[in-house]
Amino acid sequence: MPCMGEEVVRYTFRLRPGALAERALVAEWDRCRFLWNEAVHQQKSGARPTFGMLSTLLTEVRSRNTWLREGSQVAQQQTLRTYAQSLAQSFTVKGRGRPTFKARKNTLPTLEFTRRGFRIRDGRLVLPRGVRIPVVWSRELPSEPSSVRVSRDSLGHWYASFVVRRDPEPVPEAVGGIGVDWGVSTTATTTDESFDLPFRGHRKRCAAEVAKAQRTMARRHSGKRGPQSKGYQRAKRQAARLQKKAARQTEHDIRVWAKLVVDNHELIAVEDFTPKFLAKSTMARKVADAAIGAAKRELIERGVRAGRRVVLVRPAYTSMTCSGCFARAKQRLGLGERVFRCEVCGFTAGRDRNAAGVVLAVAERGHTRVDDVSQSDHLPRRDGRVAVRA
Ligand SMILES: [Zn+2]
Repeated sequence: MPCMGEEVVRYTFRLRPGALAERALVAEWDRCRFLWNEAVHQQKSGARPTFGMLSTLLTEVRSRNTWLREGSQVAQQQTLRTYAQSLAQSFTVKGRGRPTFKARKNTLPTLEFTRRGFRIRDGRLVLPRGVRIPVVWSRELPSEPSSVRVSRDSLGHWYASFVVRRDPEPVPEAVGGIGVDWGVSTTATTTDESFDLPFRGHRKRCAAEVAKAQRTMARRHSGKRGPQSKGYQRAKRQAARLQKKAARQTEHDIRVWAKLVVDNHELIAVEDFTPKFLAKSTMARKVADAAIGAAKRELIERGVRAGRRVVLVRPAYTSMTCSGCFARAKQRLGLGERVFRCEVCGFTAGRDRNAAGVVLAVAERGHTRVDDVSQSDHLPRRDGRVAVRA
């Protein structure tokens, strides 16, 4: 069993703030937002504010501003620290823009509290100024949290995300490898059918309900002329809630699947497919692509954490190469063609199953591209015999 040190992870729980607490959280967010926007303003007017500078400034502004003083210094400091970090990153990370103003209308509240800014007492999260919020403890914290992020999502639900240390989950011994090919109708097709991850379309089940809510939205006053009607807002909320629910179920499925794959294999060969979120593609396609992205991320992360051999294989030629003998088909398979048939050795398999086999075969030979595998390589076949390509 591989033994590693402690790992730092986030444990997230639902919060159930009362009306008073919620008002306090929003007010806290307003103050933090104000400070963030001040920092953005400074930067825009030519200064390059560091956390040290902003920190000094905070002390000064707080001393003459009662409104700010009513808020938590820890949360305000954290806001400025986050600002300074994202500003610094905008200079060093390619493609990262400068931090921008946060408007009340289109940003969701996020507050950070370090160790001295919060406590857990009687099962409640206690924030500065005696704000006490019941937590839905869906599992036990493995250690004392070192910080917490309190945030609200688009549905108006509040969450607390604690940073904790824990011993890594024990990973069972495993031998053998698995190849993973990504797809739309089956999110992950693997070399071993029993490890496939179907795209269950929690969506499909919910799709009808979502569609209904959206139809209702279409009939209601959308606010393009005049204010949004109550019915429109209700339908919009309902649609958002259903979509969120489906997304959570998909996430759960992915976690369970990734754990199963990692627990049972020493070598995990993954098709390095990056879904493109094309503006033109359908909503259903985007959702399926999002599932692929999430599954791939989770599998790689878990595999690496467990000390498994994780190999990313380029997708080129995986679906037109025979996983039995490695002969490459002359023509690309048509999109509608679901079965792969090898003209050289007669090997037949489902198109995606064959591709998963190729992905695994490439990784087993220590490569990351189909092209790197020498055509004269001795290739062990599924039935244990060795096929030699003429
Ligand atoms: Zn073949």
